[in-house]
Amino acid sequence: GLADKLQDTFRHLRGKGVLTEKDIDSAMREVKLALLEADVNFKVVKKFVADVKEKAMGQDVMKSLTPAQQVVKIVKDELVNMMGGANSKLTYSPSGFTVYMMVGLQGTGKTTTCGKLANYLKQNGKKPMLCACDVYRPAAIDQLEVVGKAVNTPVFTMRESDDPVEIAKAAVEAAEHKGCNVLIVDTAGRLQIDEKLMDELKQLKKNIRPHEILLVVDALTGQDAVNIASGFDEALGVDGIVMTKMDGDSRGGAALSAKSVTGKPIKFMGTGEKYDALEPFHPDRIASRILGMGDMMSLIEHAENSYTEEEALKMEEKLRKNKFDLDDFLEQMEQINKMGGLAKIIGMIPGISERDKQQLDFERGAEQLNQMKAIIQSMTKAERRDPSILNASRRKRIAAGSGRTVTEVNALIKQFTEMKKQLKMFNNPKAMKRNKLFRG
Ligand code: GDP
Ligand code: MG
Repeated sequence: GLADKLQDTFRHLRGKGVLTEKDIDSAMREVKLALLEADVNFKVVKKFVADVKEKAMGQDVMKSLTPAQQVVKIVKDELVNMMGGANSKLTYSPSGFTVYMMVGLQGTGKTTTCGKLANYLKQNGKKPMLCACDVYRPAAIDQLEVVGKAVNTPVFTMRESDDPVEIAKAAVEAAEHKGCNVLIVDTAGRLQIDEKLMDELKQLKKNIRPHEILLVVDALTGQDAVNIASGFDEALGVDGIVMTKMDGDSRGGAALSAKSVTGKPIKFMGTGEKYDALEPFHPDRIASRILGMGDMMSLIEHAENSYTEEEALKMEEKLRKNKFDLDDFLEQMEQINKMGGLAKIIGMIPGISERDKQQLDFERGAEQLNQMKAIIQSMTKAERRDPSILNASRRKRIAAGSGRTVTEVNALIKQFTEMKKQLKMFNNPKAMKRNKLFRG
């Protein structure tokens, strides 16, 4: 992938004490190819390479960095620029009632994203309602109802109407009546941009005046996604982009060039089919990820969101009092599962390359988790509370009870001890910084 290619390029530079123009030229040629291969828009690549070269040549050598590190830093900064700089936040209407209108072609993930967004908003203290304005397919209304149920959010429907404007207006009233403060309007999509679709969306826009129009595009469609985004923006005007299916094997080009081509920021990215698979889009972190610096920040934010504050406090208290036991260990593993599985977590750890990730067998990871569960559940309460009492005969009994080997029981206890150590650090962000685990 792109990450591997760029990392290889920079590995070549690393050994050199001084960089000549020729070194930079040849590195930039490789960067250019890697970006084109990732399906980044040609014009964007050209400008990017020119900007990086100019900065690399014009810059004084910094004492604190090697020349290669300096080039990597320039490339990283330019990647961040290319994606729009800072994270572009979703905004709320100052009136206290916010309407978001979700638009996009068919199958890009609008309806799914409505659910994810409702979930996200609830986590941020909002009270959302969903509104079904895809009037062409009755199944679309059913789908939104399923989504609403899954994220525990009311869904407004009006099956007898085929007028999205009428439906959306009634939904605003219903939402206010119910004490909701956000309305997310799901709209119909088509296979391609056409006049009928745009007219319908323009009417909706004119009549319900959404605070933001969010365009949902599918990362898997690469440069097409970016062209479609431009089309929507020109015809309708959009406020932000949600780039879905970033978990798939997209080559990354759409996410990299959307902002430069359309002028509109990516606000969120979809990273899976589940309703918690929506993340604010942080250009800085994406760039770090591409350049192989890992993404400790996202990891931590993710962990924070998956925990309730109460759970986190409870765990912190236990760690402080040294009362973290095997039941807590099990709970932690279940948290990891909730956070999207080990695969996702491992992917965010600095220093793990795409290549290494592929070599890890994640299916096996999930299986191991279940085996651990069986082992812990074969222990008595006293043993879970205080694993130090686990002598050889107890371990043997547990192994037999769980259908695992004593070696596996031993390994689990070792892992528990390790996790306990690591969690102590996890729960103390200051300690993490001091240890320089942050590199992004
Ligand atoms: P709509 O036609 O635009 O409303 O699209 P849907 O919400 O019905 O989604 C179409 C398909 O894309 C469904 O199978 C979704 O589960 C899937 N999907 C949506 N977002 C994502 C994502 O971020 N990642 C993955 N892997 N699949 C997604
Ligand atoms: Mg839909």
